[in-house]
Amino acid sequence: MSLKIKVHHCVICEKNYLLASAYCPQCRSENSFIPMEVEGKGKIFSYTVVYVSEKKWEADTPYSLAVIDLDGGVRVLGRMNGDNLHPLQIDMEVELTEYKDQVPVFKRVD
Ligand SMILES: [Zn+2]
Repeated sequence: MSLKIKVHHCVICEKNYLLASAYCPQCRSENSFIPMEVEGKGKIFSYTVVYVSEKKWEADTPYSLAVIDLDGGVRVLGRMNGDNLHPLQIDMEVELTEYKDQVPVFKRVD
């Protein structure tokens, strides 16, 4: 079972956003957001493999970073679980399993 991700939900147009703002970018309504949680499930939009990392994640290299379109309508950047034996693919289904240093970590759904 995947973890959930907190989003800002516009009660007027029903769109979700990761970041809050005074106006909804979609319908231009003012102060129309409520906090909501969506399932950490979605599909890979794009990805890359990191070979040279910042110091604190150096021991994990190589690892994959992916841009993921969540089923809940938001796009997030996260790390893929350490299983690099299986190549990633665009549109591969993934789910959020944990946070590592506040970065969401996803694994592929088998
Ligand atoms: Zn809206």
